[in-house]
Amino acid sequence: MAEIRLHNTLSGKVEAFVPLQAGEVKMYTCGPTVYDYAHIGNYRTFVFQDILRRFLKLRGYKLNHVMNLTDVDDRIITKAAAAGVSIRDYTEKYVQAFFEDCKTLNIESPEHWIRATEHISEMTKLIKELQDKGYTYTSDGSIYYRIAKFPEYGKLSKVDLSGIQAGARVDNDQYEKESARDFALWKAPKKGEHSWETPIGAGRPGWHIECSAMAMKYLGETLDIHTGGIDLAFPHHENEIAQSEAATGKPFSRYWVHAEHLLVEGEKMSKSLGNFYTLRDLIAKGYKPSALRFALASVPYRKQLNFTFDGLQQATNSVERLRNFADRLKVGKFPEGNQPGMAERIATGAKEFDEGLSDDLNTARGLAAVFDLVREANIAMDKGEFRQGDVAGVQEFLAAFDKIFAVMDDDDAAKMKALGYGGDGGPSDSDIEKLVAERQAARQRKDFGESDRIRKELAERGILIEDSKDGSVRWKRK
Ligand SMILES: [Zn+2]
Repeated sequence: MAEIRLHNTLSGKVEAFVPLQAGEVKMYTCGPTVYDYAHIGNYRTFVFQDILRRFLKLRGYKLNHVMNLTDVDDRIITKAAAAGVSIRDYTEKYVQAFFEDCKTLNIESPEHWIRATEHISEMTKLIKELQDKGYTYTSDGSIYYRIAKFPEYGKLSKVDLSGIQAGARVDNDQYEKESARDFALWKAPKKGEHSWETPIGAGRPGWHIECSAMAMKYLGETLDIHTGGIDLAFPHHENEIAQSEAATGKPFSRYWVHAEHLLVEGEKMSKSLGNFYTLRDLIAKGYKPSALRFALASVPYRKQLNFTFDGLQQATNSVERLRNFADRLKVGKFPEGNQPGMAERIATGAKEFDEGLSDDLNTARGLAAVFDLVREANIAMDKGEFRQGDVAGVQEFLAAFDKIFAVMDDDDAAKMKALGYGGDGGPSDSDIEKLVAERQAARQRKDFGESDRIRKELAERGILIEDSKDGSVRWKRK
């Protein structure tokens, strides 16, 4: 198998991936800030990290993966206070929605889902360590990190610190590279807003300290991989490095792997442009979860992804082509034996798929390997050259593909229904299978009136039937 290579933002290079401990990968992903529904730009990153973890697992690594839920930050505190509810009550709805969305998109649960609000004592302990080591100062009740004390500050994002004024501070958690400043580790309490009483004083944590404290609690002082969207590299990840490495004196994460932005129809997604979509917005329009997952996964993570509705339709068609092919393998009746060269062809496809993903998770290359084989096998089937003895080999290839891409199960309708969409009485898969079988039986006894009636009934309910040359029947939703 090919050596796994990943782009490391820290070095700016594509490097061979070798975990610190053989056979095990310690990985941390910055999860969502749960003050609203996550949007498809967020899911681009979460699908990418899911593809990464699934590929590492397929390669035999044991994953120890942590994803946090940022359930306390400036926006949450303000919104909860405005709504007159506790932080927990305010965020709960969005936490549950995020879990449902992940399930809908087949994003695997990491080994640890953790909440920032349940780790306040780890954060204050880490801040205390930084205080003891002289990396902090206090001003107006808030505790700041003095970046001048950490000479390596900027090594991840390559931020230019030449113009920075010593002692200039920033209280916001999010700011631009141009305003690199000493940042808040702990924020003084504000009247009417939630705060915690702790050994370092009353207040609330800054966003950056949350991830440092939680990552090191579950994964130790040095992680193998830290992932996130590229917009998190500065200031969030830069600050995580400054906090963690100042406290431990050890490298915080050996690989920093960042997913690029998502655009919508060529433009930055924003509510004001009217091109802002959550997963549910797309499902409400009738798009399938599998199509969105495919669309998000199909563009290699380091390329900007231009999300378009044409592209989503193409993704829908691609998933359907794969599922139809899997059905054809399952129900088709092929001559006994093996097609000459087919076993080698499957092996080449599997190798190319593995090499594509090993090559900095080049999903486009991996998918090309799959679609090439599917096309060739379909042609062989049409010509009557494909043999029964090759079915299992091709199925195994598809199963390995689907361990990573996870789009083959025909469960979109059920998932859409579970989220409250598309539950308008369309037939279930088993209803359809039953009618298809009845129609097959009618055809066999040459009752063509009955078989036509069933075909019409299915068509009226949005189901198309395809009879293939080998006598098998496939169906799909219109
Ligand atoms: Zn984070």
